[in-house]
Amino acid sequence: MINGSPHIAVNLQEVHARIAEAALRAGRDPTDVQLVAVTKTFPVEAILEAYAAGQRDFGENRPEEGAEKIPLVGERLGISPINPVWHMIGHIQSRKADLVIAHFDVVHAVDRMKLAARLSQLAHEAGRQVPVLLECNVSGEASKYGYTAAGWETDSAVRQALRAEVAQVVRMPGLRVEGLMTVAPIGDDVTMARRTFASLRGLRDYLREEFPDVDWTHLSMGMSDDFEAAIAEGATLVRIGRAIFGART
Ligand SMILES: *Cc1c(COP(=O)(O)O)cnc(C)c1O
Repeated sequence: MINGSPHIAVNLQEVHARIAEAALRAGRDPTDVQLVAVTKTFPVEAILEAYAAGQRDFGENRPEEGAEKIPLVGERLGISPINPVWHMIGHIQSRKADLVIAHFDVVHAVDRMKLAARLSQLAHEAGRQVPVLLECNVSGEASKYGYTAAGWETDSAVRQALRAEVAQVVRMPGLRVEGLMTVAPIGDDVTMARRTFASLRGLRDYLREEFPDVDWTHLSMGMSDDFEAAIAEGATLVRIGRAIFGART
């Protein structure tokens, strides 16, 4: 590739190897863990390089940035046999929901009723059935988005509130709930992150019992610094940016 370096392809290989090792250590099938390459702030060239190396799932965290880059990637790829799959992984303002439905395939961060209702309406109008994950704040950090879920294991009021919200979202047309998503506390303490991931997994198992007709397959958790801990706790989707594309400026 002109001007290019092989570093993205090499990094991808390394990340895949680390994912496989973490899965095997946990007694899991490595193919049950899907890598979402997070391309926020990185240019279209970097995305195409990852695509050329075989990557197909990509994540962006801002609707406008996705709305700009996704069509450009599509043009550059032309008619290719396998389209990239675009994951919206960040917080969505309700008034940006139209960009999300217009450009993205999967939504990881449904975190409130108003947003769910808006996405449902738009997806339904577009004749789509959009896979979504419910973002849950299991760590209790005030800075985090997500349905309030800290202490769900012991606090029945938290459980009841969450259960009532979920009951509404799973009935909405145009959306297909497929699991949960969380962001762990940032820091050197992987133990803390791991506790967060374990809590999300437990919550997923609880919801699976409460709503057996819903497909609760996915746990979207783990980023560059903590994805191995997330895989140990059952992650099926890991969202990784820096370990593939390098530091963001
Ligand atoms: C940026 C981002 C990631 C990826 O983070 P890295 O540290 O670059 O791996 C994952 N999830 C969300 C929600 C993000 O915004």
